[in-house]
This record gives sequence, structure tokens and C-alpha cells, in this order.
Amino acid sequence: MANFDFLIIGAGTGGMAAAQKAAEYGAKVAVIEKEKVGGTCLNRGCTPKKLMVYAADFALQESLAVSYGWQECQRQLDWSLLMQKIHQRLDSISNSFTKTFAEKGIELIYGEAKFIDSRTVKVNDQEISADKILIAVGGHPIKPDIPGKDLAITSREMFQLKEIPQKLAIVGGGYIGVEFASMMNAFGAEVVFMDTSELILSGFDKDLRTTVQQGLIERGIEFIGETTAEKIEQAGNRLQLHLSDEQTITADRVLLATGRAPNTKSLDLDKAGVKVGDKGEIKVDEFCRTENQHIYAVGDCIDRVPLTPVAKAEALAVVETLYGKQPKSIDYTYVTSAVFSRPEAATVGMNEAEARDKYGDRINCHCDRTTPMLYSLADEANQETVTIKLITVGKEEKVVGVHMVGEHAADIIQCIGVAVRQGITKQDLDDSFGIHPTIGEEFMSM
Ligand code: FAD
Repeated sequence: MANFDFLIIGAGTGGMAAAQKAAEYGAKVAVIEKEKVGGTCLNRGCTPKKLMVYAADFALQESLAVSYGWQECQRQLDWSLLMQKIHQRLDSISNSFTKTFAEKGIELIYGEAKFIDSRTVKVNDQEISADKILIAVGGHPIKPDIPGKDLAITSREMFQLKEIPQKLAIVGGGYIGVEFASMMNAFGAEVVFMDTSELILSGFDKDLRTTVQQGLIERGIEFIGETTAEKIEQAGNRLQLHLSDEQTITADRVLLATGRAPNTKSLDLDKAGVKVGDKGEIKVDEFCRTENQHIYAVGDCIDRVPLTPVAKAEALAVVETLYGKQPKSIDYTYVTSAVFSRPEAATVGMNEAEARDKYGDRINCHCDRTTPMLYSLADEANQETVTIKLITVGKEEKVVGVHMVGEHAADIIQCIGVAVRQGITKQDLDDSFGIHPTIGEEFMSM
């Protein structure tokens, strides 16, 4: 039986980060992967999505270019060329990760892992044991259990589309549904999307949610709130989506962006004494350790904050705990996140409702809406605004939440997030120099 110091199940964001760091500490490491190295983020998540967002942006910039004196021209997107180029790029990155594994002496084994006992895993017909095991198996999209659900696709298949659907119906107004709504509309599809709530992007600040929703509607995307998908039927070569409010939508594709679940079902975790919660999420303590003291779990399969930088941070913390001889846990308070729709949105810290729950009347909200200089030559129909919101607490006005919708929101919040984590006050922002003329300088004069 093969034996390792550290066995990792899943070569996604978490698994790869842990493998490389542990190998640098001198551990004998093996990684088991059932699909492609790079996991969700690289192969069917963040990376292909952002490349598609960039591609879609060219369509939106066309009308703005005209306001700067560029002559109108007819450009057409070669969708299959775009898809081919994206997948070539993803393959090349995945191959470079595989090469790095080999260079660092990490053994990569392809196959689906299952536990046999608390220290042994079976893959293909091979049994592998290890001193420590890390589960980093990520998650998968889930479809609601409605008739005709097999006719619909999930985010996974969105990256394999052979053509842009003439009409796309999207069920689910979380960030994944919203991002696809935005980019597919820019690519020229007629998009209708819906949510059980009257507002999209549940969990984000209410002003951010309203502003993004309004921005999407202004771009011609139809939104149906407070509804549920009840049935999908084939109608010739199109699909009919029946909603709880009696509406029926005819579309070429139906995307179910209705949530994700951890990939834990087939792992036989009970054989290893690892406990899971109702959604199949692995239960871990503050050090990402499971009920079994030798087994750790990180990333989407523990369902704390299902984002790439969080999976990576958790994985590196586990390696520090195990091999750096320094128990390390993660502080999730100021995780930055973004929605790469147009308008773009980003956030760090508490939303207004959370801050009010915690601090009551001691909070202050500072809001600002402005038109970026980029749009100053555009006619009114093509103008965009930027909305920023700062939530502070107490007389000293400590910043506990920052929310932004509009141009460069993700990059700006990324930087402000560092400062917020360090405990800055509004006065610190007021005292800072902006870079003029930029959108970021708005934060220095609220
Ligand atoms: P994963 O990256 O999912 O890796 C898990 C790996 O384990 C997979 O390769 C899988 O094949 C493998 N595996 C599973 N079961 C087994 C088994 N039994 N045996 C062997 N191997 C197994 N996050 C962001 O931060 N920013 C974004 O913009 C963003 N956009 C996203 C867009 C979409 C459409 C999606 C779906 C996700 C997006 N995410 C984004 C989330 C991000 O992709 C995940 O949070 C991140 O990939 C989690 O990393 P992980 O290591 O936990 O799991």
C-alpha cells in the first residue's frame, strides 16, 4: 500500500495550495483528482467566467467609443473562436499546474477517492494511506427537483455552449445567475431572469442589490421577482418554463443557477468518522479539522465562504497548523467579494442590516452617487453612475462595511478591504489623498 505524509483529495484551489505549501515544508504529498487539475475556479468558474465578461465588455464599449468620436462599425463575435480560445487558455494553465506538481515532487493520481477507514483512501484499485488527509473536494451546481429539470443546464454547461441562445431564461438571482444574465445580454441574447425574492443578490447590502438590479433592467434584461420555477417542458426545439405566478416563458435555454452543494456524497465519509451537516458540508472546527483528528477539510466542501481566496487561505492555514507548527485559523470578518455583472458590484464587511442588528443606532451610513468622467461625453442614454456606501460605527466612525456598484468596483474594494481590515475610521479616508481624476477618490470626500 502506498503511504504518504499528506494526502489531499481534490486538485482545486484549496487542494493545490495545500499540496504546494506542504511539499515546500518537506512533506511527502499525494493529490487525488477525479477531473482536471485546477478544479472549479479554473475550469468552470472564476477564470472562464471572467474571460467571458471581458469578451462581453467589448460590446458595451461600442456605444461609448462613438461618444468619443470613434466611427460606428459593425463587428461580430465569433462565439466558437472565443470558446476555443478560452478552453485553450484553461488547458494551458491546468497543464502548468500539473508541471509544478511534478517539479515539487507531488504525486498526482487521477481517479475518484473513497474512504476505506480513518487513514486509508481507495482510488481506482489502489489503496493509499497517509498520516494526515485533507479533503478539498469542492461543490457542484444543484437543480431544484422540478419536472423537466434535465432539460435545463447549470453554470457548468454555460462554458460549453455551442452558440449564443437567442433567448435565455435564468432561474436564480445569486451572483452566478446575475453574472451570466449580464454577459449573455451583452453578447446579444434576450435574457429573462428570476428569483424567489423581489430583489436579487441575497446577502448583499440592500442598496447594492437594488442598484445592480436596476442597472441590469436598464440594459434591457427582464427580471421577474417573487416567483419559483415549477416545470420545464420541451416545445418544439425550444423550452417552456412554467413559473409559480402562472407565467410561462419560452426560451432556447434555461439556466438553473439555484445553488451549489458539497461533493461529499460519494466519499464514504462515515468510514472515516467524518461528520457532515444537512447540505453535506463537512463539519470542521476553527482549524478546519474534522471530527477525525487526522483529517482536515477546506473550501467549498465546508461551505463557510465559498470563494477561491477563502479556499486558498483555509488550505494554507491547515498546512501552517500541520507543518509550520503554528495553529492557524481564519478570520472571515472582512472577506472581500464581487459580482462581475455590468454594473459591477463589490463589497467588504457588514451590510447595513447586519450592522444595524449588531450596533443599533450607533451606525452611520454615508452614500454617494456620481457619474464617472468616462461618461462625460456620452449622451444621457449611455451614462452610468457609480454608487458607494460606507457604514461606520460610533463617534470615531470606524468603518465596518463598504459597498460599491459601478466602474472598477471589484478592484477598488479590493484595496479598501485591506484598510478596513486594519480598522480604519472615516477620518482616515478623509485624510487620505485621492488620485485625481479617478472613481476611487470619491471615497476620500464622502
Ligand atoms: P474546487 O475548486 O471545486 O476543487 C475541488 C476538486 O475536487 C475538483 O477538481 C473536483 O474534481 C475534485 N473532486 C471532487 N470529488 C472528488 C473525489 N471524490 N475524488 C477526487 N477528486 C474529487 N469564486 C471567486 O472567488 N470568484 C469568482 O469570481 C468566482 N466565480 C465563480 C463562478 C462560477 C460559475 C462558479 C461555479 C464558482 C465561482 N467561484 C468564484 C467559486 C470558486 O470557484 C470556488 O469557491 C473554488 O473553486 C473552491 O475551491 P475548492 O478547492 O474548495 O474546490
